[in-house]
Amino acid sequence: MPELPEVETTRRGLAPYCETQTIRDIVTRTPALRWPIPPQIADITRGQRIIALERRAKYLIFRLDSGNILIHLGMSGSLRLTDAQTPFQKHDHVDIVLTNGNCLRLRDPRRFGALLWQKGEAASHPLLNRLGIEPLAEQFDGEILYQLSRCRAAIKTVLMDSHRIVGIGNIYANEALFQAGVHPELPAQQLTRDAAGLLATAIRQILLRAIDAGGSSLRDFLDGHGNPGYFQQQYTVYGRSGQPCLRCGHAIEHLRQQQRSSYFCPYCQKNQRQAK
Ligand SMILES: [Zn+2]
Repeated sequence: MPELPEVETTRRGLAPYCETQTIRDIVTRTPALRWPIPPQIADITRGQRIIALERRAKYLIFRLDSGNILIHLGMSGSLRLTDAQTPFQKHDHVDIVLTNGNCLRLRDPRRFGALLWQKGEAASHPLLNRLGIEPLAEQFDGEILYQLSRCRAAIKTVLMDSHRIVGIGNIYANEALFQAGVHPELPAQQLTRDAAGLLATAIRQILLRAIDAGGSSLRDFLDGHGNPGYFQQQYTVYGRSGQPCLRCGHAIEHLRQQQRSSYFCPYCQKNQRQAK
């Protein structure tokens, strides 16, 4: 599933090819993904210039003069650069064709993605207007994380609550908690200011590292023939149940939280748990 780093890598890869360009047409081959694609989208956007390609949480936002095209990649989506002459394949649901001949092609085998239109400000869209802070925003720091954590939910649940912080998927939550030495089940309100600082730093570092790793697979996003460019990474704790902790050698343990897998080192992430 494309997570925040993949979406950001997509944005960085495509922005130079579409910003300042004009939309010639939007060709919709599949009328509905997760939600119906607005049937008037081609008429609304034809002839409009793409001012900027931005990102909010896991939404790509094409900012035009009169509004915004929002794209979510869902479970299996990818948006890649091709030219309008390249024959489309199965699951290539939408083409955004530019007047310079380039084409942004949305492929989504599982159809959990979305392409939507928001007039005016993108942030006013119902899917965006209640989103929490961006973990890569400059103002995101330990103090903000500390304030967001003043509740009884487990800290991992807080990290994955998009109304508080956006874009920290399950894998990245696991990795950040391990790096910061915080047990995933720690009641969030027991997170100390010091631990919040470590955790905020860990979140940023892990996301930025993933984005850096994505840079090397950028070619996949720019090649309409390639495979979806989701990048495989080495994880320090995620998926390593029973294997030795890379820091102390204790066996990594596993539990379920909110129907999601949590992996942790009972030694390195122990102190926080005892505070329960
Ligand atoms: Zn350990």
